[in-house]
Amino acid sequence: RAKSHQRSSFSYFTVDMGVEIRERVRMMHALRAAFENERLFVVYQPQIDMRTERAVGAEALLRWKTEDGQFVPPDQFIPIAEYSGLIVDIGEWVLRSACFELIELHQLGFTDFKMAVNVSQAQFSHPLFLESLKRALHDTKAPAHCVELEITESMAMTDPELLIQTLFQIKQLGAQVSIDDFGTGFSSLSHLQKLNVDKLKIDRAFVNEISDKSGEGSIAKMIVQLSQSLNIKVIAEGVETEHQADTLMSFGCHLAQGYLYARPLTKEDLRSWLAKK
Ligand code: C2E
Ligand code: MG
Ligand code: MG
Ligand code: MG
Repeated sequence: RAKSHQRSSFSYFTVDMGVEIRERVRMMHALRAAFENERLFVVYQPQIDMRTERAVGAEALLRWKTEDGQFVPPDQFIPIAEYSGLIVDIGEWVLRSACFELIELHQLGFTDFKMAVNVSQAQFSHPLFLESLKRALHDTKAPAHCVELEITESMAMTDPELLIQTLFQIKQLGAQVSIDDFGTGFSSLSHLQKLNVDKLKIDRAFVNEISDKSGEGSIAKMIVQLSQSLNIKVIAEGVETEHQADTLMSFGCHLAQGYLYARPLTKEDLRSWLAKK
């Protein structure tokens, strides 16, 4: 099932398949070279408590700038990284970079600041994942309770037993777990309860539905209510307007991430952004 999930990120078989495979292989080599030559970097998007408009944490997001100065969007290269297995090493590097930045921020006085890191299926189900998490926490001295791993709902469905076990061990280490893009992956509600995660991230698509004109955001509202009855935290992704922020707060959702507050920032820009707040 893991395989078919990975494959689903690619287009269907076509007469252009030969070209597409060549293009993918080319991208894979380019990505590996970029990783080795340190042309990948991590940006940080603040996560806000909408009541105070203060940042409580950030999400680490990977960026790839090619030699000719172009940015390749993560939605294009993350699937290649997953498919080729490169995501295991790259993901570990993102985790370690984010933990180092977390510690820097704590030392600059932003104590209690949290850091969220995306973890993909291939990484999460790798036999050495827990070891690499342990090592990252140990080497960076990042407090585990300030580190949050974002997994997706579809991962929650591939291998429930492995997932429950891995989540249990992440909890033992003291780290937090959230479900990214929540609402898009059709996971069963009883399953969700068993997973014992700390937070749901409302997918941007449902925040988008909160518009001045038509949508009232009924799915976003439902997800907030679900989080309340499961007694877990909830954050909205992709908040772009005051109206969306106000509506989400009226639903009882107080955490948000989105262009209304800040775009993903380089670590230098994050520091100056935080200092100005
Ligand atoms: P995600 O984890 O759901 O990250 C949120 C995405 O929404 C980011 O896109 C962010 O830049 C974008 N975003 C935030 N606020 C707004 C907003 O107000 N409006 C709009 N239109 N977009 C907003 P990004 O950085 O392009 O990343 C896309 C996806 O790539 C991520 O979605 C995540 O699934 C994946 N990704 C990024 N970095 C990593 C990584 O280090 N590891 C793994 N495994 N996946 C990653
Ligand atoms: Mg995420
Ligand atoms: Mg998301
Ligand atoms: Mg996404």
